[in-house]
Amino acid sequence: MVTDTLSRPLRDLRISVTDRCNFRCVYCMPKEVFGRDFQFLSREELLSFEEIERLTRAFLGHGVRKVRLTGGEPLVRRELEKLVALLARLPEIDLTMTTNGLLLPQKAAALKAAGLQRVTISLDSLDEAVFQAMNDVGASVESVLRGIEAAEQAGLHPIKINMVVKRGVNESSVLPMVRYFRERGHVLRLIEFMDVGHSNGWRLDDVVPARELVETIDAEFPLEPLEANYRGEVANRYRFRDGAGEFGLIASVTQPFCADCSRARLSADGKLYTCLFAVTGTDLRGLLRGGASDDEIHAAIGAVWQRRTDRYSEIRSAATVDLPKVEMSYIGG
Ligand code: SF4
Repeated sequence: MVTDTLSRPLRDLRISVTDRCNFRCVYCMPKEVFGRDFQFLSREELLSFEEIERLTRAFLGHGVRKVRLTGGEPLVRRELEKLVALLARLPEIDLTMTTNGLLLPQKAAALKAAGLQRVTISLDSLDEAVFQAMNDVGASVESVLRGIEAAEQAGLHPIKINMVVKRGVNESSVLPMVRYFRERGHVLRLIEFMDVGHSNGWRLDDVVPARELVETIDAEFPLEPLEANYRGEVANRYRFRDGAGEFGLIASVTQPFCADCSRARLSADGKLYTCLFAVTGTDLRGLLRGGASDDEIHAAIGAVWQRRTDRYSEIRSAATVDLPKVEMSYIGG
């Protein structure tokens, strides 16, 4: 097991399989930046499924157990179920995916059959007007709800729902989302709006602090804090006292959790990033395509992790916000 300079083990790998998306939410891929002329990665630049599988085996060798497929939007990568089947064969892997859900009606059953265990689906409001204001492609709330239903029917349980809350945009949607998902047994996770990348115009004033969200929800549904499921879990868990399940809060801005962060990220073109807010990554694709052995790749990953010092959320300040941080659409959330 490899640990970094703060004794954090490498446990969790997020693999971005594409930098493209069929949704483009404003806090991740604003059209002003990711418009018609944006140069997305070409097919040759993308890691092949076999290359992803080979790198994943190297990460498993360092103690990774949880692998999450992300993007952009992972389901826009064609035949993704073939990659899922390759990864699902690996020993002791906990294989999950984060998606906007739009393509799940077509894909959920095949993904489940290939070995995907569960999904996290992004939905930032049930209010159509608010939802439309948060995405640049005119996708509807209904289309995401159909995706959630398809995941449920395919047996991709438990289903988590990620909601990014931005002040002045969708905080009025929080209680309707809580009411809706606590009745359906899906775990809603509220996410503080973060300064990911360097193009979403983030301001601290746009953040609705976790404390405020808990107070708002507790006023209608009395809550009780829950223990984390495991060390390094990103969400703070709360149980509804009336027994109607739980929800989570990811408070990267007001309650940083870097001390237990065990997550590495692999970009779709094979760069290793050791923090969501990193500025630079380490090229592993060059090693792969340059003929490196499995041992050399394993050693390279270990060396990067051992040098890791990241704790961005603990040091976030006005001076760090404008750093040329890597885009979330490129390395996944
Ligand atoms: S800011 Fe970086 S180090 Fe901190 S929890 Fe997020 S990914 Fe981990």
